[in-house]
Amino acid sequence: MFVVSRRLVEVLRGQSADTSLGDFPELSGDDAPSTFLAGARALCAAILGDDPAVVRHSATAVGLLPAMPGVYLQAPAHMMAVLGAAVRVRDSEGADRDAALADLDRSRDFLAARALDQPGNFRHLHRFAEATRAAALGDFPAAAVAYDTALQDASTTGRSWHAPLIAERAALFYLANGLEHVGERLLVDAVQGYTRWGATGKVHDLKRAYPSLGSGLAGAAVPRNATLDSRHSVNLSTEVIDLMAVLEAARVLSSETDLDRLRLRVQHVVKAMTGATAVQVVLWDAAAGGWVFEGEGGLPLTAIRHAERTREPLLVDDVTLDGRVSRDPYLAGLDHCSLLVVPVLSQGQPRAMLVLENRLTRRAFSAGRLDAVQLIAGQLTVSLENAQVYASLERKVAERTEALAEANRRLELLTVTDPLTGLPNRRKLNTFLDAEWLRSKRSQEPIGVAMVDIDQFKKYNDHYGHQGGDNCLRLVAEALRDSVRVTDLVARYGGEEFCIVMPGANEENAMMVAERACRAVARLREPHAFADLGIVTVSVGVTSANPAGAAAPDQLTKLADEALYEAKRTGRNRVVSG
Ligand code: GH3
Ligand code: MG
Ligand code: MG
Repeated sequence: MFVVSRRLVEVLRGQSADTSLGDFPELSGDDAPSTFLAGARALCAAILGDDPAVVRHSATAVGLLPAMPGVYLQAPAHMMAVLGAAVRVRDSEGADRDAALADLDRSRDFLAARALDQPGNFRHLHRFAEATRAAALGDFPAAAVAYDTALQDASTTGRSWHAPLIAERAALFYLANGLEHVGERLLVDAVQGYTRWGATGKVHDLKRAYPSLGSGLAGAAVPRNATLDSRHSVNLSTEVIDLMAVLEAARVLSSETDLDRLRLRVQHVVKAMTGATAVQVVLWDAAAGGWVFEGEGGLPLTAIRHAERTREPLLVDDVTLDGRVSRDPYLAGLDHCSLLVVPVLSQGQPRAMLVLENRLTRRAFSAGRLDAVQLIAGQLTVSLENAQVYASLERKVAERTEALAEANRRLELLTVTDPLTGLPNRRKLNTFLDAEWLRSKRSQEPIGVAMVDIDQFKKYNDHYGHQGGDNCLRLVAEALRDSVRVTDLVARYGGEEFCIVMPGANEENAMMVAERACRAVARLREPHAFADLGIVTVSVGVTSANPAGAAAPDQLTKLADEALYEAKRTGRNRVVSG
């Protein structure tokens, strides 16, 4: 079969004139390769327009079919049988003609049944058979309709030779009926189809037979009456419009650094550019190893996987007729749908997919539009990378900001904390006292303040050393802190002096707290060799005031300080209220 295929390729390329495709004495004559050979010979004859050979080889092929399972050999053989039988119908009369028509109908019916099963694979062939039949019977309207639908189906789904052969046969039908314009247009289609397929020998034959086709196929897409200039301007203007749109889109996309907004903009731009009824931007999530997309309704996953595999855009003119995607659950049950899936590659790997749908019409996405979408996809590669870099930068900035805030919090704490004792320092004392002062003013509540000074601490230092003094300061600080209420503040005022602020405390309450603090230090029983009692003690001066009457908060500390002086003067280790 491969050898036969090779020979067929050579003939259609014009590299060989042996249309029999060679002799194969090793074949038994009734096996699959023999059937394949007969079918290939019939196809070769059909394309080269050798009617008697079509009749002969298609009859051979069809004769062998009953022993051949599966449709791979059957469907093309029946198609050739239709073409062969049509020749006989046209060229014979009476009983021969009836027999030829019966043969034609049998093969036509076979294709009709396959078309019901698999419209994407066979409907155009069935319609081609109907057109061939009607043409052979001279039924012009029926043939015209059948050729038209066959052409339409084949243009979206036909493989290899299907579309150009149907176009060529339709062209011959119209030319034979005197319809030159449409006939020539279809010949141009056929030449283009054969060229795409690679049947250059056949193309050469057609151009020789129809000089009006000319050598330049570029002119084929141009309106017949257009002058060179108008043609130029027509092409230019559409190209310019597309270029402007792509430029504008690229500008918009390149400035977008947020992933979600980028996605929305791409959808907007691509919709406007292509008329797609839906555009989705599907992103590859490397961490999760899967495709992610925002939105409802799902995705044509088979199409996406196809594009992922091939790394090429997938252009489907009509999903209902295209075997690559027709089974996709997402696309099931649609009447029409054009689909375009364009992979967005970054370093050769798909990073995203642009998925365009148009459910209103088939063939919505032309090759020209595909170019524009591919340009957008190229820009998207850059924009996606930018957005990703931005996202990671923002994350880093957020992390640093958090670390900085944490450092600031610690720094702030340090600036209001006395390092030796861990108590709030003089700065904290001042802000606390000011705030409580204002609050007391509003609430008309009193505020108590006590000044605490360690007794004979100079001697303690002299005897126990500075380090011993520091230790003693820490012990006293702890004792003071533990003897006050949670709403009170004990701060290191400076040196061996402390200050207790007692919001809401009247004279009596303040005295109670101060006495407790004083006793707490004595109860430490920290030895002090040069103190009167032999242990570390403190003296305390207390005051309480109602801020409504007093002038300023430092008035309070001043009064407390005076009371402290009195406590020292009257014997130490005591509390005096001022
Ligand atoms: P009084 O009972 O009259 O208060 O006697 P005093 O010795 O405590 O008198 P004074 O207030 O003059 O002495 C304070 C001493 O406290 C002076 C200094 O040696 C000591 N001192 C002040 N700050 C610190 C400190 O941070 N660490 C240590 N180890 N000693 C300190
Ligand atoms: Mg002192
Ligand atoms: Mg002292």
